[in-house]
Amino acid sequence: MSSAFPVATPPAAFSDVEPSIVARDVRKSYVGGDGGSLQVLDGVNLEVRPGEMVSIIGQSGSGKSTLLHVLGALDHADAGEVHIGGRHIASLREEALAELRGRSVGFVFQFHHLLREFSALENVMMPQLIVGTSERDARKRAEELLDLIGLMPRASHKPAQLSGGEQQRVAVARALANRPLALLADEPSGNLDPSTSERLHDLLFAVCREEGAAMVLVTHDLGLAARADRVLRLHGGELVAVGPEAGPPQAAE
Ligand code: ADP
Ligand code: MG
Repeated sequence: MSSAFPVATPPAAFSDVEPSIVARDVRKSYVGGDGGSLQVLDGVNLEVRPGEMVSIIGQSGSGKSTLLHVLGALDHADAGEVHIGGRHIASLREEALAELRGRSVGFVFQFHHLLREFSALENVMMPQLIVGTSERDARKRAEELLDLIGLMPRASHKPAQLSGGEQQRVAVARALANRPLALLADEPSGNLDPSTSERLHDLLFAVCREEGAAMVLVTHDLGLAARADRVLRLHGGELVAVGPEAGPPQAAE
């Protein structure tokens, strides 16, 4: 049967490697505008292994950003467990949690959030300096990443002197600066035109494989989502595998 989506099970190559990121029965609710409770995550289970790429699709408001925040320890789950690099994050004190977040998780958001006053190179050095890497090593790694994303010639440019696509590539390099176990990307190309967006995804996929980072990519672009190893849909607060058996993409939405 032909389908735009890969099969839902992870490739065999990943099955005997320890997952970089694990979510078990994760639940989270918010208090809605009317004072009632809104159950956004209702038993999410996920394991992503080094070098594996998982994409998550789902309607607007289905909880995709909430899930990424919980997976990256930017937000707490109400119940269930999240493990990053084998560490149960709920058991960590704030200081250890901040350290884990800084070293082991890289985020790419829809809007790059680069520091405006700093050059591309300095933006990629920054997360490394924050965790205590020497300036020399941070510069070396930043140059290596800028080279990888094809932006060494723009190293001294500030964000305002870069195109939208270039800014997002710098944001990818910054997210990878500390060699994170997990790269979490929330509609990273949501703001870009289709061909720039496709190039950004090429880059994300290539660098994740190269660096062995586990990637969770949230995207509304089904074609790009389909290029990951697995595609999951967040629906009714749960992750559901999208595979050939799930029918065409439009039926999945
Ligand atoms: P998505 O990224 O899939 O569009 P979100 O995770 O941003 O969805 O939001 C899921 C739901 O939770 C939405 O209905 C949203 O309005 C609600 N929500 C998100 N953040 C908060 C918050 N801090 N307080 C209350 N409700 C929230
Ligand atoms: Mg969102």
